[in-house]
Amino acid sequence: MSVSDLTRVFVLEAGVPERAMAVAGCRERGCTTPALAKCAYVDGHGHSCETAWCHRHLREIGAEGYCRRHASTVAALGGRAKDPRALPAVDHRGASLVNWICNEGHAALQGAVASALRPGEVIFEDRTVNVVRQSDGSRCWERGWRIGDRTGLTSKILVCVEESDDALVQLAIDDQVVAVAVPPWITRRRACQAVTAALDAHDRSQFYGFLFGHIQSVLALRS
Ligand SMILES: [Zn+2]
Ligand SMILES: [Zn+2]
Repeated sequence: MSVSDLTRVFVLEAGVPERAMAVAGCRERGCTTPALAKCAYVDGHGHSCETAWCHRHLREIGAEGYCRRHASTVAALGGRAKDPRALPAVDHRGASLVNWICNEGHAALQGAVASALRPGEVIFEDRTVNVVRQSDGSRCWERGWRIGDRTGLTSKILVCVEESDDALVQLAIDDQVVAVAVPPWITRRRACQAVTAALDAHDRSQFYGFLFGHIQSVLALRS
């Protein structure tokens, strides 16, 4: 780039309003459209997501536009997303991962809970992800199922991701962690491994089968 080019770029940028200045190309791989806006996500510490997207790849929730991860984080938390204390750090996938597992694995997980019902019991299902503060002050994002009868709640089955490790999924039944696992798609992404759709589907069904087995066997031991 020549000196005159540099000068021209500087002059151009100086005249552009701040919101548009963050905008170069859309972040989506393979997309060549200029970005329209930055992701609107700002976590509880005031850190914002720096990615920018075109109109096609910016995901709108209410009046705001987000990147894929933060759109799923905000959707996962539902009304709680308005509370900054519920929002995971910008680079933390906790809330969206919990929601993803409860949605994608819904048939298996709820099926395991339903198969353990005793006469008179019913299931109450969370529709969004909850955030709880643990005894050490750190947070945990969770969603799941509660079993109850006319006397009150009898069991709870929760999919949880803690603040300390956003790849580790915990299955907690009646406040006991009964299984932990890193989902296969995260293991692969970390290793930059690409697999066929068939192998991916196989691994996912094995992962949900693993959770299903633990829910069924632990609930079967209820007194
Ligand atoms: Zn795009
Ligand atoms: Zn974002």
